[in-house]
This record gives sequence, structure tokens and C-alpha cells, in this order.
Amino acid sequence: MFATLSDRLADTFKNLRGKGRLSEADIDATAREIRIALLEADVALPVVKEFVGAVKERARGEEVSGALNPAQQIIKIVHEELVTILGGETRRLRYAKSGPTVIMLAGLQGAGKTTLAAKLALWLKDQDKTPMLVAADLQRPNAVQQLQVNGERVGVPVFAPEPGNGTGNPVDVARASIEEAKRKLHDVVIIDTAGRLGVDAELMQQAKDIRDAVQPDEVLFVVDAMIGQDAVVTAQAFLDGVGYDGVVLTKLDGDARGGAALSIRSITGKPVMFASSGEKMTDFDLFHPDRMASRILD
Ligand code: GDP
Repeated sequence: MFATLSDRLADTFKNLRGKGRLSEADIDATAREIRIALLEADVALPVVKEFVGAVKERARGEEVSGALNPAQQIIKIVHEELVTILGGETRRLRYAKSGPTVIMLAGLQGAGKTTLAAKLALWLKDQDKTPMLVAADLQRPNAVQQLQVNGERVGVPVFAPEPGNGTGNPVDVARASIEEAKRKLHDVVIIDTAGRLGVDAELMQQAKDIRDAVQPDEVLFVVDAMIGQDAVVTAQAFLDGVGYDGVVLTKLDGDARGGAALSIRSITGKPVMFASSGEKMTDFDLFHPDRMASRILD
């Protein structure tokens, strides 16, 4: 992810090396190149415009500082603006003040929800939490079993409908899971909900019903960063249809151009909270805007 964007930006900055002072023309040329680099990386057009506008304005206004040459100054501005569009601060999980913290996952089928549920559970376990996974995806035949397998891999119990009752109501399952968590003293409940291949009204309604029934502390929208601009479209549809508090980007290890990661915060106004970046259960962490910006500019 971001390989091409990184190369493109590095080339742009290379052109500025050795310049004593940036002329208006230098700033314009640099802004144009950054614009092309971002568009090629699949960043949404409104985000590109805002980004380039901010960089240009700051580059013009910047005092010539003794410590940094013009190329370094532009890199610093681009870094700071990248951090801004990526969300600024790291957004951490909010835990419930009393009772179990309820986290609900929503997203399209194939987004990586079930995998992510287990990764998140392991991550929480490593922080001395006692999570429980909940199989409320009763749509896809193998979803419950897949979550059980993943739960076993990370050593976290899975609450699922009784065998033979596989067509049960996901709202009832979700509701019952909270009671179970209280009984068994689990402090975090992670509810995996059903996805479809595309956005549809029934899927949205089901997720909304679960949300209304269990009032999660955090609803996380899980999205495959490899699907480019579609990720932003889907993110908006889920925001309107279900609503959520934060975003989890999956498959950041892929070789897609990364535009989704850069656009989603600005378009939805919701922070990216976690990043999932591989098939291993430990390929998962909080999303740190500053680290991601540094990775892009490395
Ligand atoms: P769900 O339908 O949303 O529950 O998606 P799954 O969790 O079943 O994931 C769909 C596919 O994506 C599976 O083959 C996963 O192994 C794969 N996958 C999930 N997360 C990642 C990731 O971060 N990186 C990569 N490369 N593959 C992933």
C-alpha cells in the first residue's frame, strides 16, 4: 500500500533539492505534482483539492526557517497535512463505565470482519481484557463456524446460537450475548454482524436493529482498503444506513493505491481507529495517523 504514492512524492521533493528559496512557480509546480500523485493513488477529488490547497497556502506563508531548507519545509508541511487528513490524533477505544463494553462490527461480506473480530479480541486480551466474540452473522452459512475457528485460534470464547437453531434472529443473539457476558464476567463483547456482497436495505436494517437493541459503546465500520474509491462510497452508505463511531481498515498489506485510507476520514468525518494488515492474528493495531504519514513519506 502507498508504494506508488511514496515514490511519486519522493520524486516531487527531489526536484526541490538544492533550491535556495521557493518561488511562486516552484510552489505551483510542486502542488500540481502532489495533486497528480494523490489522484493516482485514488484519493477522492474533494480531499485532494482540500489537501493541495492547504499545502499551497502554508508553503506560501511559511517563514524561511534557518533549520530547514525549502524541500524539507515542504516535506514537513505535507507530513502535517497528511496527519490532518488521516485524523490527527490516534482515536482510542472508549470503554463502558460499567458493565461490558459492547463493540459492534458492520461492513460488507469479504471486508475482513470475521478475521478482524478475532484480531481485535486478541489485541484486547493482550491488554488484560476478557473479551467474548458473538456470532450474529447468521446469513452466511459458514460465518458462525468461521468465527468459532478464529475464536479458538486466539483463545477467546464465542457466543453463538445453539446448533440446529442456526436460522435464529441475530438481534436476539446479540441481546442474549450481553447477558451471557455479564454472567461470565467478560468485560468486552465483540459482535460480528452479517455482511452482503453489496449494500442493500435489508442488511442495513438488520445492522440497525442490532444497534438499537444492544446500544453498543462503539460501532466499527470494517472496510477493505483494497477496493479503492468504492470503500468511500460504502462508508458513506453505512454511515447513512447504520451509523458508526469509527472505521477499521483491513488488508492494508495489499498493493492497492491507498486512496481509501486517505479519503475516508475527510469524507465521513469518522476516525480510522484500527488497521488490519495481514492474515496473521497479530497483524493488527491502533491506527496512528502520524505513523502512517511517516510511512507514506519514508
Ligand atoms: P468477512 O466476510 O467480512 O467476515 O471477511 P473475512 O474475515 O472472512 O475475510 C475475507 C478474506 O480476507 C479472508 O480470506 C481473510 O483471510 C482475508 N483477510 C482478512 N483480513 C485481511 C488482511 O488484513 N490482509 C489480508 N491480506 N487478507 C485479509
